[in-house]
Amino acid sequence: MGNRILLHREHHNLEEHLKMSNGLTSVFIAVLVLSGSTLAQTKNEKELVIWLASRDQGVYGIGTVGFYISDMPWTQMGFADEKNFLLRAIEGARAKQRWDILDYSPNEEFVTFALDRFENLISLFDEQYIDEAKFHEWQDYLKRYATSDDFIMCEKHGVYLHPVGCVICHDT
Ligand SMILES: [Zn+2]
Repeated sequence: MGNRILLHREHHNLEEHLKMSNGLTSVFIAVLVLSGSTLAQTKNEKELVIWLASRDQGVYGIGTVGFYISDMPWTQMGFADEKNFLLRAIEGARAKQRWDILDYSPNEEFVTFALDRFENLISLFDEQYIDEAKFHEWQDYLKRYATSDDFIMCEKHGVYLHPVGCVICHDT
């Protein structure tokens, strides 16, 4: 039931995790992708947004998109910038960056709860748990399935498409 976001596989303090209903998960991903797509400038940043967008329950099924922070495509070299970018994307989402694009009104209290918890997890994540194999798998996946090297945005929602399409279109 629902989706969980946890730090990494050796972390057992369940106080430090985020559990969301399937509905809240969709909203959480949507607001992050809206904010992140607006902020992203480098290839790495755009690909992090696309990674979040690919947590797409409309494609992979509800309740299947939970993850470990250590599953994200972090790089050792870029970790500080990547972390900083995600924290800014969270901040933008909390400030309702482009929420008006959505054809529903997110429940602010629930979304803020989820974003606060996610922010805490990103802040706590220790670079010793970075597994660059995840980054390389993600690069291989993008090379194989992304339709183009250009970063294409959904015309309706102005967010980066993941290889199977727009996470916000799939949610409606
Ligand atoms: Zn769309």
